[in-house]
Amino acid sequence: MTQFSDLGLSQPVLQALDLKGYTEPTPIQAQAIPAVLEGRDLMGIAQTGTGKTAAFMLPSIDRLRDADRQTPFKSCRMLVLAPTRELAGQIAQSAKDYGALAGLKVQSIVGGTSVNKDRNKLHRGTDILVATPGRLLDLIDQKAFTLDKVEVLVLDEADQMLDLGFIHALRRISQLVPEDRQTLFFSATMPKQIQELVGKYCRNPVKVSVTPESTTAERIDQYLFMVQQDEKQTLLEMILSERHSVPGKFERVLIFARTKHGCDRIVKKLSQVGIPANAIHGNKSQPQRERALDEFKRAKTPILVATDVAARGIDIPGVSHVLNYELPNVPEQYVHRIGRTARAGKDGIAIAFCAEDERDYLKDIRKKTDAEFERLPLPDNFRAVVEGVGPTKREQKPRLARPKVRPTGDAAKKRKPKVKHPNRAGAPKREGAPAGGKSRSGNRRRRSGARQPG
Ligand code: AMP
Repeated sequence: MTQFSDLGLSQPVLQALDLKGYTEPTPIQAQAIPAVLEGRDLMGIAQTGTGKTAAFMLPSIDRLRDADRQTPFKSCRMLVLAPTRELAGQIAQSAKDYGALAGLKVQSIVGGTSVNKDRNKLHRGTDILVATPGRLLDLIDQKAFTLDKVEVLVLDEADQMLDLGFIHALRRISQLVPEDRQTLFFSATMPKQIQELVGKYCRNPVKVSVTPESTTAERIDQYLFMVQQDEKQTLLEMILSERHSVPGKFERVLIFARTKHGCDRIVKKLSQVGIPANAIHGNKSQPQRERALDEFKRAKTPILVATDVAARGIDIPGVSHVLNYELPNVPEQYVHRIGRTARAGKDGIAIAFCAEDERDYLKDIRKKTDAEFERLPLPDNFRAVVEGVGPTKREQKPRLARPKVRPTGDAAKKRKPKVKHPNRAGAPKREGAPAGGKSRSGNRRRRSGARQPG
């Protein structure tokens, strides 16, 4: 078995890893670290949760230390570009942890925060800068920062950068960094456009891949409900309140919807039936996003509803369930979404809600990922509840008043005594009513179908 000490890393980095409690390298770390230490360019295809941050950060820290250069004024020696604020924050934190004993300065800049503060903090330069592309270009345009001292350039989650429309920003940045830099390029998937980018950015890169393209994380059990679009909210409420059981014990539930308004609508309706949840998407301010993530991490509000903007950036251990309230139209995105669970060696559960008009998306996902979905039955009384014949809102409310996704940690200590539910069953019932029936609100359906990027 390869050990970190076999890979040629320095003592300070090995000590920092010891403090982190990492005992052995993950496959991508074992493959990438020696090549990066040699100064080679690298193209890494790695699924989420594989340890790729350390794969590029550990050897780079050592190379920066060895080069023994001064921290440059208004510039940086290593630039890491990340697609989302959350991911940038996490990478910067990892860089600080791994480089704790290496004496390197780490900064991060992301959109949605004060530009003036960023300008001030970068005035004296930094060794490692983690940035989202837009904010970095803002500072460059203001002549507050330059990239001419960059020795190592890292592009993380390159495919999501493209999805989020960063292609022009990346082109500009690529013209501003020195040609004789080292480039480390990471993407979870390798569509053609990404391969072209690799050709532009990297010189004869070492290729490392820890999973075949778009293969769904193995430790994730995948389930499927066939349910009409305008009945999804009812199903969601029944599942979260455990009036309809699904596999697995809820710890933290991450729900993906396609649009920002869709996320807000789900949160609002959940709150109307007494289930607290937060939303995270591109219209939320940075403090709102941070608060939502923090409450999710601490399991104070263990239900988070997100657009794809959150599909990559979140590294939170203990996401027990990912619910795809709407299926993504790009199959790769499905892989990223469900990759939010089953992190750090744990198992996870992904449940997809598929409406009639999403069957093609489902087909694409199956084709691309070889995913095997186990179909779950709708609740026995689903039709009655949807049509309002079942328990009325008044009757439902007390049952739903407490979220069944239990808080843990600090929040759990403040919890009131548990309310027992007679119909809580371990496994899902197999014989359910089929999805079907008339839509109660054609308008609502049309509205929720309106797409809007997160
Ligand atoms: P990443 O894919 O970089 O987002 O990492 C996923 C998670 O795995 C993070 O929480 C890391 O802290 C953790 N991790 C990375 N490398 C190792 C390792 N060698 N041993 C144990 N955990 C690790």
